[in-house]
Amino acid sequence: MNEKEVLIEVKDLRKYFQVGRHQVLKAVDGVSFKIYKGETLGLVGESGCGKTTCGKTVMGLYDATGGEVIFDGVEIHSLHKKEKKEFTKRAQIIFQDPYSSLNPRMTVGDIIGEGIDIHKLYTGKERQEKIYELLELVGLNREHALRFPHEFSGGQRQRIGIARALAIEPEFIVCDEPISALDVSIQAQIVNLLIELQKKRNLTYLFIAHDLSMVKHISDRVGVMYLGNMVEFASSDELYSKPLHPYTKALMSAIPIPDPKEEKKKTRIPIEGEIPSPVNPKPGCRFAARCKYATELCRSETPKLEEMEEGHYVACHRVKEI
Ligand code: SF4
Repeated sequence: MNEKEVLIEVKDLRKYFQVGRHQVLKAVDGVSFKIYKGETLGLVGESGCGKTTCGKTVMGLYDATGGEVIFDGVEIHSLHKKEKKEFTKRAQIIFQDPYSSLNPRMTVGDIIGEGIDIHKLYTGKERQEKIYELLELVGLNREHALRFPHEFSGGQRQRIGIARALAIEPEFIVCDEPISALDVSIQAQIVNLLIELQKKRNLTYLFIAHDLSMVKHISDRVGVMYLGNMVEFASSDELYSKPLHPYTKALMSAIPIPDPKEEKKKTRIPIEGEIPSPVNPKPGCRFAARCKYATELCRSETPKLEEMEEGHYVACHRVKEI
């Protein structure tokens, strides 16, 4: 990783959706973190925890209800049209579903070339060469430029999605569950490709996923989200070796261990029930309804994210006792 230079600072970010007349869905509710240049920040949690909404709001695809996203010193939600275009040249997103995120009527060459055209980066032969270069960079070949998305496998389509994101030479990429829709055998290939590209191009990633083992493999630091809140945040090694929040402990205990003997010895911590609805959430700790340690304090007061050890933050009233 480079010197610790902050590329993105997210401060008290909130994204609410109005549901009907009187209800509010608090998808992201007061989330803060920094992403350093050249690092990968992983964001994990069950589906419905707000991690994808957080990624899209960081990208400016959703307006923020409150808080700030500061990219290289500039708050992105207050940008004017021209500045926003400049931001989208520096920041890109890779989507979860490689099946629906590529236009089926466009050739792969035109899908990759679209960003180049929008930002007027190259034309004619130079544009063509750039597309070939990108296809080769992601492990495809130049003959693929004339084909259509349906002619490719899921893994290959995600490679096309990555080439499209890289076409305008961004510095920052939000990887929104880029491997969830892929076969397990292909997932590691895509993660390894992302790691290789990061080294070659000094990219900074926000990597969103619910597969905790893959997140560990790619991330320098990891944030755990639960029902719109960040509940734990630490370096990847620290979080996986010493999770402190009851929710993170339960998530970690569910990661399968490849060695069957070790897997047998492991104690799995069950999480009771489903993730509650983020519509009009109750006061207090959002995990209280599923937490065996919950007390009256937990049900009335929201715990703040506090630094327990250097760089290791936890939001739990009882973290020191459990
Ligand atoms: Fe459980 Fe209370 Fe900690 Fe929330 S604050 S995780 S309910 S012990």
